Amino acid sequence: MSSKRKVKRYRLTKKGKKAAMMITAVLTIICLCFGLVSCMTSKNYIAEEFRESDISNKTAGHKFISEVFKKEDKIYALHYPNFDNAILSDEVEKIVEKAKILDEEEITSHLEYSSSKAFDQYISVTFTLTQYTEMEKNTPIMESGSKEIYSFVFDEKNQKFLTLEDCLRNKAYRELKSSYDESSLVLKEIKETGILVGTNQGDVWMKYDQNPDYFKLIHDSIPSILEYPVIEKQNRELNDKPRLAFTFDDGPTEGITKRIVDLFDQYNGRATFFALGSRMEQYPDILRYVVEHGHEVGSHSYDHPDLSILSWDEVNEQLGKTEDIFYSITGQEIELLRPTYGNVSQIMKENIDITFVFWTIDSMDWNSRNTQAIVDEIIPYLHEDAIILMHDLYESSADAIESILPQLADEYQFVTVSELLEAKENESRTQD
Ligand code: ZN
Repeated sequence: MSSKRKVKRYRLTKKGKKAAMMITAVLTIICLCFGLVSCMTSKNYIAEEFRESDISNKTAGHKFISEVFKKEDKIYALHYPNFDNAILSDEVEKIVEKAKILDEEEITSHLEYSSSKAFDQYISVTFTLTQYTEMEKNTPIMESGSKEIYSFVFDEKNQKFLTLEDCLRNKAYRELKSSYDESSLVLKEIKETGILVGTNQGDVWMKYDQNPDYFKLIHDSIPSILEYPVIEKQNRELNDKPRLAFTFDDGPTEGITKRIVDLFDQYNGRATFFALGSRMEQYPDILRYVVEHGHEVGSHSYDHPDLSILSWDEVNEQLGKTEDIFYSITGQEIELLRPTYGNVSQIMKENIDITFVFWTIDSMDWNSRNTQAIVDEIIPYLHEDAIILMHDLYESSADAIESILPQLADEYQFVTVSELLEAKENESRTQD
């Protein structure tokens, strides 16, 4: 659908403009009579305020303000909602302030809006601000003039503005980015059937029932692939000790993964688990345990093929399926991928937009399956920001962690891969 969708128009026709000027003139006289000239020059005169009769505004449940005034030979016709809510009023105020600024050549400022309310919770408002010069005003085409669109969606229940990221899962966002200019993407409206996305090529409707796997917006009436309650992300402050990121591939595994989580928890440390989609399906409770304890989970494919020899469709299926399973169990998105066998094809490099994570120390735990041998492959090779490759498959790997962590806890901090990458990025930024 194009951005020129039918919204309630308050555009002034030629007749309307005359009427507006007349109203302004009458008001000016009244003001003068009462010696209230200042109300026209310093404060903006509110012409009238009345209850909106349009259906869409009835559902949005608010009054609106209509200001028509003339100031320094410029005409302003501003229509905007009047919300009881302070957060909303502030946002509206900002847009109205913009509408009250005209360039030197411009002579008319015209603000109109449309609004709706969905699920008795989401208030969507779209403003259209059109400002005309003398010449534009005289052109017969009413679409002339500089036009700007402002939209916001407010979640009344949680008292916050929503963004596209609040509504859409990464996969849907990725799809939008492949067709439209990323910087133009904006959430315009939440409806009971779908969401309206503003793009550089006009508005796009995304319907809930067409792609239930696309939506992160949670409501009883919106279909979702979520099977468990959402686990909130936990952020924490790192300290100044050198960082180590221990990573565990191929899990989750009964009896091993939770044990490793508990060991890291003892030292206020966090690890990263590159899990297989097939095993997440098998052990949802272990997966939730890992995430609830603040550890990170990345993708290691669905069932461990060598991704580098697969076609893009096959790779996409391996990753997409794993992403959906992880989301359905935790309500979170996967941000990292450890390619199986550390192999990456050109196809993967070109098409995958999540972060590839390799390692700097290989514990060879899959080969030795011997606690001391594993410890000996790690301790002598440690360095700052090391990423250590292990597997949460074997008892010997968990035993090695039990031996290693107390030896290192004073000197190092144990962080997730994302924490490590973010800290490094912040450091390089402050060095610039
Ligand atoms: Zn593996």
